[in-house]
Amino acid sequence: MPAILLENQIRLVQFLFFMITFVLIFAGLGADIHPDMILFNGKVLTVDASFSIAEAVAVKKDRIFAVGSNADILKLAGDSTVRLDLKGKTVIPGLIDGHLHPESASLSELEEEIPDVHTRKELLSWIKTQAANREKGEWIIHPKYFPTRLQEMTWPQLKELDEAAPHNPVFLDGSYGGEINSAAMRISNITGETEHPGIFKDSETGQPNGLLNASAFSLLKMNKAAQYTYKERLDALEKMIARYNAVGFTGLCSGAGDPENMRMYFDLKKSNRLTARILQNITLPLDINSSAKEIEKKLKSLGYYTGFGDEWIRVGALKTWIDGGILTGTAYLREPWGVKGKEIYGVDDKTYRGVLLISKKALVTIGSVASKLGWKFTAHCTGGGGVDLMLDAFEEVNRIHPIKDRRFSIIHGNFFTPEAVEKMNKLGVYADMQPAWFYKDADAMNYVLGEKRIKTFHPYRSLFTAGVMVNGGSDHMVKFDSYAATNPYNPFLAMWSIITRTTERGSVIVPGEAITREQALRMYTVNNAWASFEEDIKGSIEAGKLADLVVISRDFMTCDVEKIKTIKAELTMVGGAIVYKSDSF
Ligand SMILES: [Zn+2]
Repeated sequence: MPAILLENQIRLVQFLFFMITFVLIFAGLGADIHPDMILFNGKVLTVDASFSIAEAVAVKKDRIFAVGSNADILKLAGDSTVRLDLKGKTVIPGLIDGHLHPESASLSELEEEIPDVHTRKELLSWIKTQAANREKGEWIIHPKYFPTRLQEMTWPQLKELDEAAPHNPVFLDGSYGGEINSAAMRISNITGETEHPGIFKDSETGQPNGLLNASAFSLLKMNKAAQYTYKERLDALEKMIARYNAVGFTGLCSGAGDPENMRMYFDLKKSNRLTARILQNITLPLDINSSAKEIEKKLKSLGYYTGFGDEWIRVGALKTWIDGGILTGTAYLREPWGVKGKEIYGVDDKTYRGVLLISKKALVTIGSVASKLGWKFTAHCTGGGGVDLMLDAFEEVNRIHPIKDRRFSIIHGNFFTPEAVEKMNKLGVYADMQPAWFYKDADAMNYVLGEKRIKTFHPYRSLFTAGVMVNGGSDHMVKFDSYAATNPYNPFLAMWSIITRTTERGSVIVPGEAITREQALRMYTVNNAWASFEEDIKGSIEAGKLADLVVISRDFMTCDVEKIKTIKAELTMVGGAIVYKSDSF
């Protein structure tokens, strides 16, 4: 190479180097080193490892810049820093709901309000009004109807439904079980001759008594559910997320779904309309009895796995189902549902323990492939028999592909014996709990299952004491109001319920399993951040973490315990942006 050319090249490199240095220094001088906003004069519950309390937080861009005393933090302010005087108000990390269904919930009351009935009388009078306002033959459907949540804890008599709506088919849809009236049977051609394991019949007359298992829902000849356009669904979802923001949520784990769900969140994000961080569980995209080979092939073809995504939208666990639900007597228990089970759910079989939807073998197969491919694996599981089955399967999976780093979980679980808790601790399996099931249903479970079995129902203190990771969520399915929804998604109501062990009916059930305010708050913050492998970037108010926080209306730590359930979010911030503000700001 001629010397002159080489020299030119060296000069060019030197020149470029000089220019880059110049630009960097210039940019550094020009950039504002001050925080964008300082919230001061507050009581900041950081929820860091030592649960330290600070007075002020500085936010810069989407991150927490610094946390500390008023004096230390205010010193950082520059000319353009916005200062927000909290006047003593409490700040907590942005709350995360560990399990709910925003996409379907967002559509649930678009057409009409779903009633919030508490007694059989209220239910029947709602049906009567509906019948009076509808054409003959038009369906009256109550989605997510759970009889044990009524004072009487039972399904209405078929006769009562027929009297309330003689000419309109009625369907009380409890997801895993339901009830229909005679008009619904006529329209759907369901008679004494219909042979279907999901149809319950009167043992004397042999005629259907109106009660159904979910397997028979497909026989119902209902008019098509309202179809919404993609745009309508996106708008509804945006509004639903705004409702979550209004009670303090900055993160949500969508409990089950597919790439279609994720696409909605991506589209909201693209147009700057996503105001909460999303973790999306993925429903197993093939038959549960598929071979390991088929599952591996299918999962690999998806092109994503747990953790894929960014701070806004991330892939959660691979999910399947173990059993039915506690409200319809279809949860798979350790022992038969018993005499009261017959009284409440109308099950005749004395050995009946619930509905089991999957074998241990299938669980081991799916779990092993999941673990091998880097997925975290979880399942809907509502009965203790299901919990034990899952843990047995997970133990086996653990021998094939260790699962501790995969953070496998049990969704709901509900019933945990000391043995189950010990196994969970050993395997690093966490409890994905929804206190709403305790708040709404502990009374019914107490009545049906009795004193001994209720001790294993939502044993929060035992789980915490053993060192098991416990997460908090709502399983919000339908209705918009945070307190009246099914399930209620108000996080302060949920925390109050498990701090006091108090139910909707006002009973205090197994008070020995109460947890502290600090533990309850961890369930909805850092513990949920841990579930998505994001404990280093969110879940607590610490410098460098995402600026997700909530200013609340009362001091969560010292207010009268009964007032916890009335706490309101007054300002919700996600990634440094205020997404909700009450009138007090
Ligand atoms: Zn759910």
